[in-house]
Amino acid sequence: MKILIIENFWLGGKKLKLTEKLLLNTFSILPTLYARQLAAITPKKHSVKIVDERYLNINFDEKYDIVLINFNFSSVQRAYEIADSFRQKVITVVLSGWYPSIMSKEAKTHSNSVIIGLNETNWLELLNDYEKDKLKPFYEPKKYDSSVRIPPTNVELPGFIFTGAIEATRGCPYRCDFCPESNIPGGSQYFTRPVDDIIDEIKSIPQKTIMFYDKSLTINPEYSKTLFKKMKNLNKKFFCNGNADVLARDKELVRMSKEAGCVAWLIGFESISQETINKIGKTTNKVEEYYQAVKNIHDNKMSVIGSFMFGFDTDTKDIFNETLKMIEELKIDIADFWILTPFLGTPLFDKLEDEDRILTKDWSKYNMKSVVFKPKNMTPDELLQGVKKMYSEFFSFKNSTKRVLRGLYLGFYPFFLILVRNSITNIIIRYFSSYDN
Ligand code: SF4
Repeated sequence: MKILIIENFWLGGKKLKLTEKLLLNTFSILPTLYARQLAAITPKKHSVKIVDERYLNINFDEKYDIVLINFNFSSVQRAYEIADSFRQKVITVVLSGWYPSIMSKEAKTHSNSVIIGLNETNWLELLNDYEKDKLKPFYEPKKYDSSVRIPPTNVELPGFIFTGAIEATRGCPYRCDFCPESNIPGGSQYFTRPVDDIIDEIKSIPQKTIMFYDKSLTINPEYSKTLFKKMKNLNKKFFCNGNADVLARDKELVRMSKEAGCVAWLIGFESISQETINKIGKTTNKVEEYYQAVKNIHDNKMSVIGSFMFGFDTDTKDIFNETLKMIEELKIDIADFWILTPFLGTPLFDKLEDEDRILTKDWSKYNMKSVVFKPKNMTPDELLQGVKKMYSEFFSFKNSTKRVLRGLYLGFYPFFLILVRNSITNIIIRYFSSYDN
């Protein structure tokens, strides 16, 4: 069989210039992973091609037996366009990803089959069913079966890619009320892959630096310690996500991550207000522990990438300046600022829908860079301008230079990361300003 896997994330159909493609492709900390995992487990008798529309165009004239499109909310329109074009050519279309998992009935009207949740076992079952001409309309998430081993993601993307990608664990049990990933069917089901499989996979990744796609490598600290211990002599560098509670309390884990090659921890701080944190159900965060978490990471010469969100019901217009002040005090090296987005399937969406505060159901705007609901204590424009201000202040020449110089103390890789992320964020800022509300 000839299979095409299309991954279409985050850009909402926006076309990139050649220089932007090169920059993203080379330095992206979010290399395509899911498509390559599916390609890697596809039996070798089939031929698989991957297209990530950020970099490559789709050839609609090529003949395929199955086209799988994996997409999220902001790419719905483009994904359906692609699906409909292939269906007109009587090619079997399968849809998967966040959006089809939540809106499976709608997705089915544009496809032959929908995979709900992330589950490799379904892909193999689907291929078998296709060969027997017994394709099912929906493939529900299955309980993880440890006999299913995700092999190395051995499908190369074109060009020079600076960062490789891997996934040691999947799912997150915390279910924060805004989080689409843990609230999709099967998303809060947490499982770990055998550590030796991860080690084999890391050895086979050609890149020196790797991004762990895990929602958090602090959910099961003992598992992560075993993993870090075995990574010690692999001579790799990596970034990973973690939660503030464990990073503040478990110094041994932080130290072991450094010894394993960790360059940076990405932490979803979300808010500097404990009241907000309590309301959104982010049980891993205690604001008073933020300082210790950052200190532990810096003490071990790694950098901190902080993620913050704005627009919570407890946020007033003061939240922007207060957050900037605290980020400065915490000495966070790199930060991402997002507009709270009520993704379908989350408790947050249900609440705002009940309160008649959803402003648009144009899913292309559900990109965390547009205001799609009525905030409680500010206007939508004040929220948008506030987040833009966070970017312009945090990434001002003076502040960026200060951070880059401070990064020198952390050693080459954290320093390089801080330098590079400033360039990438410039691209993000440009995208940001392209959205109108
Ligand atoms: S801790 Fe992170 S990944 Fe887990 S539910 Fe909360 S936001 Fe989602």
